[in-house]
Amino acid sequence: MRCAQCDQSMSEARTISTHHTSEGWVRYKRCACGGVSIELLTLDTRPTGVHAARA
Ligand SMILES: [Zn+2]
Repeated sequence: MRCAQCDQSMSEARTISTHHTSEGWVRYKRCACGGVSIELLTLDTRPTGVHAARA
């Protein structure tokens, strides 16, 4: 996945927190630029949707 703020790879991003929801796992990751991306991992673990929110 890539940061929606700066478009760099999020592979080095720090995971802030992970929450279990009825749809799967929601993982909050903070990029080096300060942007926070939210990754949704459904129960079959395929990422299905990513969007970003400002910190
Ligand atoms: Zn970024």
